[in-house]
Amino acid sequence: MLKILDTTHDQFADAFRRRYGKGTHISTPVYRHVMKTGKTAFHELSVLSGQPELARQLETDLLLSPGRLVKRVSDGDVVKLVTRLADDLDIESVVLPMFRRHTLCVSSQVGCRMGCRFCRTGKMGLLRNLTAAEIVGQVFAARHQLGVDIRNVVFMGMGEPLDNLDNVIQAIRVLTDQRGLDIARRYITVSTVGLTAGIDRLARLDGAPVNLAVSLNAPTDDIRSRLMPINRSIPMAALRGSLLGYPLARKSALFIEYVLIQGINDRREHASALAQYLASMTVKLNLIPYNPAPGCEWQPPSAHAYERFHAWLVAKNVFVRRRGEKGGRIMAACGQLGGKNKSLDG
Ligand code: SAH
Ligand code: SF4
Repeated sequence: MLKILDTTHDQFADAFRRRYGKGTHISTPVYRHVMKTGKTAFHELSVLSGQPELARQLETDLLLSPGRLVKRVSDGDVVKLVTRLADDLDIESVVLPMFRRHTLCVSSQVGCRMGCRFCRTGKMGLLRNLTAAEIVGQVFAARHQLGVDIRNVVFMGMGEPLDNLDNVIQAIRVLTDQRGLDIARRYITVSTVGLTAGIDRLARLDGAPVNLAVSLNAPTDDIRSRLMPINRSIPMAALRGSLLGYPLARKSALFIEYVLIQGINDRREHASALAQYLASMTVKLNLIPYNPAPGCEWQPPSAHAYERFHAWLVAKNVFVRRRGEKGGRIMAACGQLGGKNKSLDG
């Protein structure tokens, strides 16, 4: 089997040469054809027209998808896709019609071991890492099985991408290969709980930087450690050190996620401390109303409390974007991706 979704063009060309003894005059058009059309019907490919044997061989050898789409649920224009992997675990991706082009929110792990208390995925624990092909496969399936023009990819589905960084980096290399899926680095965003070693490594990634989003969610170490256990080993000052060293694409900013929870992180002094923490950085802050997870005692902010917090930040010169809760009814919104892998509701 040739696992094409695991490989960049150059890696594919090497594997192709080893297996079939053919050079890039054949492997390049094959790679391009599969990645751009999602098809393995090679009789359409002129370079293979004189080689029906090889075309047939390739049709059986190329492993396209490491999983199969088993469910598709929509809520307005948000679509949640459930993919069943070879070992019967399910992962979720969400198509968001954001900006001008569609965004796919991809999973990087089945579950997550970071244990953030407000997060549904966190309640699952980590079942396993996804392979690069399983990450790329989510984009491939959305583009070619659903026919959606995915241009932006955000690692904000299940899992902590920097806890599976080797595979995430390989997936980024495959997604951005111009001879294949050709997604620009500036349209990729990796969202993290704040693992500084991973941020530093991503900062040094060859070529153009990808965007970085950080789930901050709190203005002080006290509050953050209560919400997010990782803060006890990587406190906010250390996190800020890594953020200041992160390269930004031209005209871009760091994205900060702040989940607003009633009575926890929604007071005026919280807004002030948050603004102060962010003051020396170029950021865009997404203010997300907490989405109650089953069995969790916290409440979302009222519309008034949300607007008030927003206004306090704006008054402190923080660039804030409101973020609604698209997809709430189909459990596709932030912190709701849990799948059926473990009983979360019962
Ligand atoms: N592990 C990474 C990527 C997942 S992104 C990270 O945490 O950044 C998931 C996003 O959803 C995070 O920004 C998180 O803060 C947010 N989130 C998690 N649970 C939520 C909830 N119950 N309500 C609203 N947002 C939530
Ligand atoms: Fe994991 Fe992110 Fe959820 Fe925290 S918020 S448990 S890091 S998925």
